[in-house]
Amino acid sequence: MTGFISAFDVTNSASVVCPTNGKVGRRVDTQTVKAMLNLPLNVLRNTEYRFCPDPTCPTVYYSADGLQTFAEADLRERVYQKHPQEDNSLICYCFRHTVGDVLKDRNAGENKVISEIDQGIKNGQCACDIRNPQGSCCLGNVRALVKTAAVKS
Ligand SMILES: [Zn+2]
Repeated sequence: MTGFISAFDVTNSASVVCPTNGKVGRRVDTQTVKAMLNLPLNVLRNTEYRFCPDPTCPTVYYSADGLQTFAEADLRERVYQKHPQEDNSLICYCFRHTVGDVLKDRNAGENKVISEIDQGIKNGQCACDIRNPQGSCCLGNVRALVKTAAVKS
């Protein structure tokens, strides 16, 4: 019975590491993995899936038991965390803002991107769980990018 996988193989350990780079990834809802995969969804199992945000690791999602990994080529979207330096990387998937948009806004001393995202959230127009590969709101990433990027003079 090698390879047998229980239908209820749920791992609740907080420290489930990515089998590719050995670092702990973030738990994601299976709904997010379903929305992102560019594969027949019958590859999915009744287990926990995790997101590996490490830009140097090719694995985006992995099963908590380490038996499955999905790379960017298996997905319908490019993943911001894997290309954080590229201007054309989407950072806000719901309202389609790129890294370049955020930097331009910041360099102009404006706050249009963040206020547009805030407004969209208030209007109930965001769908981070099915649009953003990380399965959660992009706002933390956008704020971090605004903060860390050095202001060009
Ligand atoms: Zn990884």
